[in-house]
Amino acid sequence: MPEGDTIYRSARTLRAALQGRKVTHFRTELAHLARVDLDRPLTGRTVDDVESRGKHILMYFSGDLILRTHMRMHGTWHLYRPGERWKQPGRDMRIIVATEAFEAVAFRVPVAEFRTAATLARDGVIQSLGPDLLDEDADLDEAVTRLRALGDVTVGDALLNQRAVAGIGNVFKSEVCFAARLSPLGAVGALDEATLRRVLEIARQQLRANVPDTRTAASTMWKGQRRTTGRAHPEQALWVYGRAGQPCRRCATPIALVKQGLDARLTYYCPTCQVVAAGL
Ligand SMILES: [Zn+2]
Repeated sequence: MPEGDTIYRSARTLRAALQGRKVTHFRTELAHLARVDLDRPLTGRTVDDVESRGKHILMYFSGDLILRTHMRMHGTWHLYRPGERWKQPGRDMRIIVATEAFEAVAFRVPVAEFRTAATLARDGVIQSLGPDLLDEDADLDEAVTRLRALGDVTVGDALLNQRAVAGIGNVFKSEVCFAARLSPLGAVGALDEATLRRVLEIARQQLRANVPDTRTAASTMWKGQRRTTGRAHPEQALWVYGRAGQPCRRCATPIALVKQGLDARLTYYCPTCQVVAAGL
């Protein structure tokens, strides 16, 4: 599943390329979107804004039409110059929003719906999202409260719960727990507020560090290496994720791998550095 930083970067890049531009062409393979386009054509509308909310991307068109997409595991938005060759197979195309200068193409997006401002305001999926760590005004206290309310749920599962806090995916879940020296296996409800607050601050810092500041380079999506260690070498970019059996970068203990939760999501951790369930 894409992490919050990926979605945030995608939304920002799409905004830089499309905002204020007129839609010259719209095409979709999704019948329910095509029906809306027939009734209320997209072509000729202006792209007013693009933003991310948790792992959703919202594309706002003039005339009160909002396209909400969710990437799940494999969905992705690409930007191309007109005539540029796609980097994904044509059969995976689901949506094209073209302007004169750019063509935004959604591949394998499993969730896509049109909303109006009114229906978006009633959209339970969006409204129930926890504070978004990449949001400047994210209310961390609220996120702490929502996390603690999960009680017996493990820290690893709780950090993935987008209704508690939005933006952390499977990679950052492991990385954040390591940086906080916190066991991902302990109950989240056992952590005190200060500890959880610190965990969220580390998560926010890691997510932000993976969102480049530049608003330029709109023609291609960011393809940089995700990093949490601050080290540039690709093999040293992450603390624990994907490193099962390899020595911990702090203490050389082999990194452990467990499957957590109903979805059996992979969690990497150091059994030596991360034994403490609460209190840092
Ligand atoms: Zn260690």
